[in-house]
Order: sequence, then C-alpha cells, then structure tokens
Amino acid sequence: MDPENRFDEMLKSGNLKSTKHRIAILEVLKGNKIPLSAEDIYIRLKQNNISISLSTVYRVLETLHEKDIVSKVNIPDSNRAVYELHGNEHRHHLLCVKCRKLLAIDGCPLEEYEKLLEDRFGFTVKGHNLEVYGYCNNCAGY
Ligand SMILES: [Zn+2]
Ligand SMILES: [Zn+2]
Repeated sequence: MDPENRFDEMLKSGNLKSTKHRIAILEVLKGNKIPLSAEDIYIRLKQNNISISLSTVYRVLETLHEKDIVSKVNIPDSNRAVYELHGNEHRHHLLCVKCRKLLAIDGCPLEEYEKLLEDRFGFTVKGHNLEVYGYCNNCAGY
C-alpha cells in the first residue's frame, strides 16, 4: 500500500475525510523519528511550500489526537505539547525539562504491572501513560 492510501485508511478509521492538510501533517510526522511540536510541523510544511496557518496545524493535530491517530505528549511547565504518529507501537518517553529534548524508549516496563493490577483489583486495564522527566546527559549538572 502506498503511504497516501495508508493515511486515507487511518483517517477513515477515525471517520475523518482525507484533506490535503491532514495528509501533509501525517506525512511530516511519519518522516520524523522524534515527536514534533505544532510549530516544528508548521515550519516543515512551509519549507515544503504548503500554505497553511499555524492555527490550522493546531486544529488538525487536535482532531487527529482525538481520533487516536497521533499521540500527544504534554511538556510540563509549559503550554507546549509534541505529537507523533501513533502507529501500533506503544512507547514511553524521557523528557529533558531544560533543553526539551524528548527521547523515545523502546518497550514498556509496565506490562507485568498491568497484569498484577488486573489480578489484584479485577480491573480491566485498557492502557496507561508514563512520561519520565529529568535532565539529559547534556544538561545534567548545569
Ligand atoms: Zn537536555
Ligand atoms: Zn507502557
């Protein structure tokens, strides 16, 4: 399946129409390994000569987030958030509170814990969020 069709499918799964802007934003997210802020995405779209306003970028990202197509990580102590393509991969992040670098961690340390909670509370776990804050190795000690 070519990428464009894949985006169509993703949007369809959220009952969203494929629009030029939605596809362009999904393309930018797909092309980047690290999560991006709305401003980052806006700058990249401009570089590709796509005419869009920053407020449209925000609106599209919120819609995609509501439909679970992109995930959103809020950066503490700021009004900023970064976004990444959801995919099937469940991931966690390490966030540097100084330089705002965000590192993705492979794998999830909480699968065992979820099972334990299910057993102990008879609770059906559907998911969780875990973001780890601190200083990266460039910023530690300053
Ligand atoms: Zn840092
Ligand atoms: Zn996890």
